[in-house]
Amino acid sequence: MTGGFKVTLRWMMLVATGLLLVSCAGAEPRPTTTVSHPAIPLVTFVFDDGNDTDYLVGKEIFAERGEVACSAITTDWLNTKDHLTTAQARALQAAGWEIMSHTVSHPNLRSQTRAEVDHELSRSKEVLEGLGLNATNLVYPYNKNDEMVREVASKYYRSGRGGANAFNTGATDPYFLKSFTIKHDLALMKAQIDRAYADKSWLVLYQHEIDVKVRLTHREGTFVRGETLRLSPSGTEARYVTRLWCPIYGYAYYFVPLTGTPQPGDTITGATSGATARIGRIVYNERAQLAEMIDYIHRNYPDMRIVTTEQGLDLLGFPRQRHPDKKIETGKASGAL
Ligand SMILES: [Zn+2]
Repeated sequence: MTGGFKVTLRWMMLVATGLLLVSCAGAEPRPTTTVSHPAIPLVTFVFDDGNDTDYLVGKEIFAERGEVACSAITTDWLNTKDHLTTAQARALQAAGWEIMSHTVSHPNLRSQTRAEVDHELSRSKEVLEGLGLNATNLVYPYNKNDEMVREVASKYYRSGRGGANAFNTGATDPYFLKSFTIKHDLALMKAQIDRAYADKSWLVLYQHEIDVKVRLTHREGTFVRGETLRLSPSGTEARYVTRLWCPIYGYAYYFVPLTGTPQPGDTITGATSGATARIGRIVYNERAQLAEMIDYIHRNYPDMRIVTTEQGLDLLGFPRQRHPDKKIETGKASGAL
């Protein structure tokens, strides 16, 4: 009896250990979906970090052209200096923009434990949804992700965006959507749009704060971070951001163009500091460049669509996000109540 009991006990322990090993190894592997290639070329614009320029500058650029974009919000930065307020984020969503999660505190997720990643991804979604903001899709901070991060992302999101400088197709892993950063090289950006159109692929472009970089002459005084700048004769009103020293050019100045289009020769006056200067050269104007990219698509490729991430996933045929506690969403909106 005793011997028989010991054997039974040993078998039970073996079975239990086996079950434990299976569950530790991840009994539910992350589904990797491959779907049909889209029949139409797509472009998506994403603004990372939840800067308030998404609302103050970006919303108008896209609205004037009948388009929308995505704002990826880091929830700890909501309602902080130079970032979106809750009301601004809601206004973007009401205007058709997609609000995406960009974690709670913007860590490099690859350097975190699974529990930490789980918190960053679940909590940011919870916070956004608690504010009435849909957060179906994720943007990885610094684009950094690995298989563990992607697996956790698949628990809470329909997709996760990384970098990798590549185009997306139906064969793309939705938890590793590829993207390009927007560079201050209009010819290069147009070439990427051309390529997406020719290949009928999905081009995802991202950038951060929407600003202008200029070189100044005749400067007197020092501008104060955050102050209002008045530019004449262009009539531009701007918010001063900072200046950075470059060994070749000396100082470059950065500001957010809230209204108008800055021009070389404009005189800048700081409303608080009283400092003045003249614009010698505009190194880049992101407001103008974004507008030109959209106009380029409209002019050359009327059948190319500018979509949110959610719309891109729909058009490629990727399944809607599964809610563990709710029924699986279908392609139609369930808000017909
Ligand atoms: Zn970021």
